[in-house]
Amino acid sequence: MERTLVLNSPEKIGQKVRLCGWVATRRDHGKLVFIDLRDRSGIVQIVGGEKLGGLRPEDVVEITGTVRERPEKMVNPKIPTGKVEIEGEEVKILARAKELPFPVDTGGLDVNEELRLKYRYLDLRRPRMAGNLRLRHKLIRFIRDYLDNQDFVEIETPVLTKATPEGARDFIVPSRFRSGKFYALPQSPQQYKQLLMVAGFEKYYQIARCFRDEDPRADRAYGEFTQLDLEMSFAAQEEILALTENLFKDIAEKVLQKKIWQFPFPRISYQEAMEKYGTDKPDLRPNKKDVDLLAFCFVIDFPLFEWKKSENRWDAMHHPFTAPKEEDIPLLEKEPGKAHSYQHDLVLNGFEVGGGSIRITDPKLQEKIFEVMGHTKGQIKQKFGHLLAAFEYGVPPHGGIAPGIDRFLMVALNEPSLREVIAFPMTAGGQTAVMDAPSEVDPLQLKEVGLRAAGS
Ligand code: ASP
Repeated sequence: MERTLVLNSPEKIGQKVRLCGWVATRRDHGKLVFIDLRDRSGIVQIVGGEKLGGLRPEDVVEITGTVRERPEKMVNPKIPTGKVEIEGEEVKILARAKELPFPVDTGGLDVNEELRLKYRYLDLRRPRMAGNLRLRHKLIRFIRDYLDNQDFVEIETPVLTKATPEGARDFIVPSRFRSGKFYALPQSPQQYKQLLMVAGFEKYYQIARCFRDEDPRADRAYGEFTQLDLEMSFAAQEEILALTENLFKDIAEKVLQKKIWQFPFPRISYQEAMEKYGTDKPDLRPNKKDVDLLAFCFVIDFPLFEWKKSENRWDAMHHPFTAPKEEDIPLLEKEPGKAHSYQHDLVLNGFEVGGGSIRITDPKLQEKIFEVMGHTKGQIKQKFGHLLAAFEYGVPPHGGIAPGIDRFLMVALNEPSLREVIAFPMTAGGQTAVMDAPSEVDPLQLKEVGLRAAGS
């Protein structure tokens, strides 16, 4: 007999069905035993006698039985299958379950987080978490369809690559073939997407994994995160903003069923944001308790540089590929702190959920920016020579943006942490879920890459 999903059981009243799933709960009422059976589509009540008696919560079972309409007063309006129950006839235990370390039929926020992550495969059984991941899937599918319709092409870029300057520490990977040399994991596909513009793709995107060795914070994932990385050639800043706001309006309304507060999204200059709201991530909601309202805005006209006190030098406010406003180029020589840029940040309910810019395409100007940041000519050639060389071969004007997928979902769903929207996130202490990395490696593996662990 074909398997029926529990959600479809109400369509089969009077028929025999075969259901598979997990025992969510068991209630004994004398001779009658009730089971809530859970599969990927939801839960349904099974009623039976002794046969159900031996089942324990979270056992994996196959149950054959007849779908019966419940008497009116027994209907459970809280679940979609609440009008029926299954009269269990045959029960097959496919796998036994030990007692779980925590309940999975609650929201889960009350459970110790390290324990949740240690047993993440159980934590993901809770309907709230499963729902978040299914919604994440819908979001990504929606983005892909949307951009595909606009002639964007998704291109994967390397994960083993060269250090990229996006303001964080790099993760590095030793090379076995070239002992003493290292790859770096990309902080973003920034330089690759710019090279793809030189290559002539014009409209690129990628659901990209980025790696940054930053100190953990609730709204910033330690280690890795996912962003919608996109880049367009021959597009003015306003076109990039328009594409982004139309995409996010549709996401909000069609994927998340949430309301947008203002559309088009307000464009606020950095200076105005700081003067009026005291932050460059203003929360424009009229009432902060309004959970279904998404107040987006763009912050623009950022300073090009910020002074990095610890290193006594200018650093790019966004990243060094961000174009200065044309009229401010003369300031680079003497007063770089006064120059403004074509950076744009996407802000949602008081969180920065994306950033981007129009890029520099003049190799001379790009070199100048690196110089202001304190790089010597030799360092520039060694670190960025590839990009400057590419720009000598016909580079189109281009720009882009990269909204964070995890960050956007966390804010839009009012979740307290990024970990609530990621399948296997790290703990706050940088330990991976379930697998417990970082961990020691075999000394032989180290030897092969020409390394020794400190202290050994
Ligand atoms: N690469 C930038 C980032 O990850 C985004 C961009 O400029 O498009 O923040």
